[in-house]
Amino acid sequence: MKASSRVRNLPTPSVQRLPVYLRFLKEARRRGDDVVSCTRIAEEFGQRSVQVRKDLAITGVSGRPKVGYRVDELIEAIESFLGWDVKTTAFLVGVGNLGRALLNYEGFVEHGLDVAAAFDANPALFGQEINGRVVRPLDQIASTAARLREEGRIVEMGIVTVPARAAQPVADKLVGIGVRAIWNYAPVRLDLPNDVVYEEVKLSASFAVLTNRLRRRDADE
Ligand code: NAD
Repeated sequence: MKASSRVRNLPTPSVQRLPVYLRFLKEARRRGDDVVSCTRIAEEFGQRSVQVRKDLAITGVSGRPKVGYRVDELIEAIESFLGWDVKTTAFLVGVGNLGRALLNYEGFVEHGLDVAAAFDANPALFGQEINGRVVRPLDQIASTAARLREEGRIVEMGIVTVPARAAQPVADKLVGIGVRAIWNYAPVRLDLPNDVVYEEVKLSASFAVLTNRLRRRDADE
């Protein structure tokens, strides 16, 4: 099977659970554990072992019966599967409340994300430094990408944190400089070429699940 078709068919919930397993495995490694069983991981997250085994199998690693998984091997396999073992260079556009929060979040570095530059349309922000990145005018996006390319850094991802009305033109600009992935936080579906990988972040969707559970619990009590 070609890698591309395999990626398309992967179950998203399994992929989304991998970072959670990864955190647990890194904690186990810090404690000095060499092996961990499927049952132990399943217990930790209230999952069925068969589900955990299935989730982990998509990384290509399988545990040994009665022994479990080698912690180092599994960490390496998950990081490689998620692409977190290589650096992903990104530009962020929209340095408002959310953009700043993302720029200040150090956790992404651990996942290989390198936000190389940040852009905005508001002149009052130009030149401001946020966690080591100077805010630049959006019209410098192509020249900044070209300068980075000369250093061997290819901008592969665009992070869109502008208001909804500005998201499509911003995404078009990012595609114009050659990004191959858009991580969109704006509440609008973007129209992008088929070869651009796309993911939307929806905190309100997560909140909806939480409040729905909370209200159902109220109803049960
Ligand atoms: P904000 O108003 O604080 O920041 C938006 C920034 O975008 C501002 O600095 C503004 O100058 C800049 N901007 C506007 N038009 C631009 C353009 N054409 N080019 C470049 N920069 C431009 O807003 P915020 O609270 O940071 O939210 C940003 C976006 O994220 C909004 O679309 C919001 O709805 C969305 N959001 C999504 C989630 C989620 O769960 N995905 C959560 C919170 C906010």
